[in-house]
Parts: sequence; structure tokens; C-alpha cells
Amino acid sequence: MTSGFRAGFVAIIGRPNVGKSTLVNRLVGHKVAIVSPRPQTTRNRILGIVNRERAQIVLIDTPGLHRPESALGRLMMQELNQALEGVDVLALLVDASEETGAGDRFALDRVKQFHGATFLLPNKIDAIPKERLLPLIDAYRREHEFTEVIPISARTGDGLPLLVEKFTENLPESEPHFPADQFTDQPERFLAAEFVREKAIAATRQEVPYAIAVLVDSFEEGEKLVRICATIYVEREGQKGILIGKGGETIKKIGTAARLELEQMLGVKIFLELHVKVQPNWRDNSALVRLLDWRAQMERLSGE
Ligand code: GDP
Ligand code: MG
Repeated sequence: MTSGFRAGFVAIIGRPNVGKSTLVNRLVGHKVAIVSPRPQTTRNRILGIVNRERAQIVLIDTPGLHRPESALGRLMMQELNQALEGVDVLALLVDASEETGAGDRFALDRVKQFHGATFLLPNKIDAIPKERLLPLIDAYRREHEFTEVIPISARTGDGLPLLVEKFTENLPESEPHFPADQFTDQPERFLAAEFVREKAIAATRQEVPYAIAVLVDSFEEGEKLVRICATIYVEREGQKGILIGKGGETIKKIGTAARLELEQMLGVKIFLELHVKVQPNWRDNSALVRLLDWRAQMERLSGE
């Protein structure tokens, strides 16, 4: 006999900036995906795991949807296609506070091709008057017959208990796929790189955030201290100057913010050393994009 436990995979899809990372973090209850007011800063497929008494929901935060123009774009598209294999529920997250755009249509086309349960999640309902919600939902319903439509606010948590319940109903009866104390399959090194990247993005503007990639060069766990060395890659000398700042002020600020958050997350003292390197056009260089991809990064580190 089965225990009645349900477990499975939910992919969250939506154009950049609709709130995917915020939703994953909120549901998981830990910070696993970086949140940014700028689009397309989630470059990697990220798993967050929601553990409940009778269910385990494995969330996949898909890379931002965009046209595969650069090597990075192609890698992201490939990851998106891979991310949808073996998925039980495909949830389309849309920003209810914004007009529907090309990115939403592109995501909707993915949903139409999906064979499992499909959810429409209008997000940011805290930011709109209620009257705006129904026309939006109607417009989507005319396009596709969604299994569930659940308006939410990833920021305030509104609608999320119902969402977890409905996700659970649509998962197969199964043993959990991961130990219950695990909330991400992401290695700590990757989280370290992501935290540094998030702080570097927060400290810069215009084109600089898109030019930033972070590679953890070493991660040594001592008894009382974890020593992390990481390199921030940018594409131009000018960007390097901006990241370092006057008298090293900016890079120091980035390092301190990332360190404090990592210490909280890992519960240990951290020594964080940051370097900045110029690597022209790294986004167009397949080998480098692969190097900066966290799985490749893990293989490289474990092969040392
Ligand atoms: P992603 O690109 O889809 O992963 O989007 P993020 O999670 O990084 O969020 C993009 C921006 O939208 C951030 O500034 C978030 O704080 C904001 N945001 C996300 N969810 C909500 C919400 O429910 N309400 C409001 N008002 N803002 C939100
Ligand atoms: Mg994101």
C-alpha cells in the first residue's frame, strides 16, 4: 500500500522579472535563488524543495526566457528544454501589474505544448486593483485551458497556502526524492557565487549587471572558518573600475554584504576574498559560459 505521500516536480516559467525567484524563495522559506529588480539575472536552473508533512514539491526556477542570440542565450534555452523533462506541473507566472508582452506569449506557447497539469499564476496582486485581475485571467483562459488559476503575491505570501495545496494535488503518489532537510540541490559553492553576483549587481547599474559573472576559485572548509576566493568577471576595463570603485570602496561593500549573508546562510564564519577580472565578450564565448555554469564549475573544483 502507498502511504499517500506525494512528491514531484513543478517548473515555474515566465518572462524575466515576473517574480519567479521571489516565489521560489518564499515557498522554500530559504534564500536559494537570487532576486533582482533587473531582468535575466537568473542564469541557472535552480531547484528549491518544499517539504510538507505529506508532500515534497521540487521547484524548478527556469532560466529567463529570451531569444537564443548569444552562447549564453543558447545555453539558457537548452536548459529550459531540459528543465521541462519529467515535470509534473508547469506553472506560468505572469506579472499582473504589467501589460502582457511578447515574453509572456512565448512562455504561454511553452505551456500549450506541455502535457501535464498547467497552472496560471497571476503574481504581484498586492500591486494592482482587484478589477484588473479578471480581464487578465479571462484573456489567458481564452488561450489555454489551465488546470488551475491561482492569483498570488510572492511578496506578501497571499495565495501561497492554496498554491502549495493545489501543487500537491497534482503530484503523483511517491516517496520523497530528496532528504527532508534538504531545500536545494545546489552546492554551497554555487550559492556563494550567486550571492556575490547578486551583491555586485545591486552595486552597479546600466550595462554592468549583465556583464557580471562570478566564479568561485576555491572553497576551503576549516574548523571555524570557511575561506572562499571568488573572481568577478566583467567585459571591459571601465566595468572593472566601476566594480572596484574609488579606493576599492565598491568591491569592499560587495564583499561585506555577500559575506554577511553567507555567514547567516551557512552558520559559520566566512573569509571572502574577491578579485575582478576583465574577460572581453565572455557571453559570446561558449567555453567560458560553460566554465561559468555551476555544474561545470563543480566538476572543475572536484577535479582539483
Ligand atoms: P524573476 O526574474 O522572475 O526571477 O523575478 P524576481 O523574483 O527577481 O523579481 C523581480 C522583481 O519583482 C523584484 O523587484 C521583486 O521584488 C518584485 N516582485 C516579485 N514578486 C512580487 C510581488 O508579489 N509583488 C510585488 N509588488 N513585487 C514583486
Ligand atoms: Mg529570477
